[in-house]
Amino acid sequence: MSFSIKSASVYQIYQLLEFLDLFKSEKEKEKQKQIQKNKLILKEIKKQFSRRYRKKFKLEYERQFKRQEKEMEKEINEKEIVFWNVFKANKFEMDFINSSFNTIQQTLSQINPQIQIIFNENEKVLNIQKMNGNNSSYINIKEYNELISILENQINKKGLFDYMSLAKDFLDEIKKYCLKKFPFISKEEIEPIYIKENVGFQEEWSVHFDLSFDSGDDYGNCISCPNPNNFNKRLLDECYDSRLIGYGRVYVDYFQSIFTSIPHEFVHCIQSKKKQLDYSSLSWITEHDASILGTSFFYHIVKNMDQKTFHKFFPIEGLIELFVLHEFNHTIELKEKYSNEYIQKLYLNWIDDFGLNYPEEDDPNINEETSNYMKQRVSIEGFFYSEDLFNTCFDYCLKIELEI
Ligand SMILES: [Zn+2]
Repeated sequence: MSFSIKSASVYQIYQLLEFLDLFKSEKEKEKQKQIQKNKLILKEIKKQFSRRYRKKFKLEYERQFKRQEKEMEKEINEKEIVFWNVFKANKFEMDFINSSFNTIQQTLSQINPQIQIIFNENEKVLNIQKMNGNNSSYINIKEYNELISILENQINKKGLFDYMSLAKDFLDEIKKYCLKKFPFISKEEIEPIYIKENVGFQEEWSVHFDLSFDSGDDYGNCISCPNPNNFNKRLLDECYDSRLIGYGRVYVDYFQSIFTSIPHEFVHCIQSKKKQLDYSSLSWITEHDASILGTSFFYHIVKNMDQKTFHKFFPIEGLIELFVLHEFNHTIELKEKYSNEYIQKLYLNWIDDFGLNYPEEDDPNINEETSNYMKQRVSIEGFFYSEDLFNTCFDYCLKIELEI
């Protein structure tokens, strides 16, 4: 069966895709993890060996990886029905479902009235049902994968979002929230903070900088923001390979990052205004605070927006809960990929001491990936639904002046 899909907004398709991700089987997830790992190994080979050996090793590994991926594929029975056991949902998944389920059903009826989400009484799970004339059946892995890739193709396009104007408008909302909630921050301090487009070099050595949000330049006034509408193939490939963004999701992922990354960078700007100096090599103390505050900061800014502004940024229900779930899932992905018992211990030492007990400067286990994992994890473990708790934490991090 081939699915025909009628048009829907990019927000609707993004939400539907995140929902359908919940139906992915463990085996499928395993396979995708392995493919990601293999890609990273091939990249390492490219970095480590000279041109002469590179080709030989690459070919050998590629052959081996293809075999391995084929073996894993064999274990997946494409005729198996996909399902999601809603009773096993975690808190973030539950919030997402409660806030989005109606919109998701509407989107499905809009794009293809033959597809519906059904609660399967016998199995006590959710299934995706398709109608074929008068007959109905639940969709299997093959059809599921086909549906996902049709939907991903629809949102894999440049120009769906104007990232820079979203970033600028959202920054105004952050400033409004701070002036209302934190009297120790003055208008004069935050007024000059601005968004600059991260133009980047789009070269191999610069990919990390080209893809990241950053802050601190211009006396703590500048927040630099990547613009995926200008990414070349190298940057897009890097998004799939090392930033673990799924195929087709780069443009929506950065739409989300505008809202979840800029609050983190804004905290760095305030740290700079308040002269919170941190001489540790990876700025472990200031990064701890910006990270622990980041996701909650985003959440409470948007929950405090007036209706009109809120709908301008988020035209359908449930996107906020989707973003938080996405941050949680990304933490799990990074944990599986970059953490081990040792990193776990470093992480616990770091958060138990509220950022002050950080890894040794020359610890060989600490690199960009492991430190990113630690920051990402504290942003979700330190997430506060309660605005009072968040505001107290914000005061605690930024009201004091420290010099280390
Ligand atoms: Zn940071």
